[in-house]
Amino acid sequence: MNSGRCPKCSSTEVYRSQHPGGIWNDEARLLKVWTDAPGPALTEDWHTCVCTACGYCEFYLNDAAALQDIAGAPPGRLWSKIIPAAWLADPSGRHELRYWDGSRWTSSVSDGGEQTEDPL
Ligand SMILES: [Zn+2]
Repeated sequence: MNSGRCPKCSSTEVYRSQHPGGIWNDEARLLKVWTDAPGPALTEDWHTCVCTACGYCEFYLNDAAALQDIAGAPPGRLWSKIIPAAWLADPSGRHELRYWDGSRWTSSVSDGGEQTEDPL
């Protein structure tokens, strides 16, 4: 989207914010997205791109220290790492593998290469 073309609708009606706001630092130096927060902005290297044809938005953070803070933050507190869809070890332990659809566990399971259904 930084190139000026919307990845969703291919429009070139793409605008970049000139305001760096939107990402802030709390006392523990954990980043949070909080548009009306008081306090100092952690970084000036944050900007938003929006497509005025379809409303699609993207955000960019070009600050290596801030990116490290996000990756090192306690899981689930402010940031959650997205786990892509995949066959993973079944958390119930009943099967070898269970399919994670990218946001939740499904009922699809696999043992020895054979796929069946078993709701969690
Ligand atoms: Zn668009």
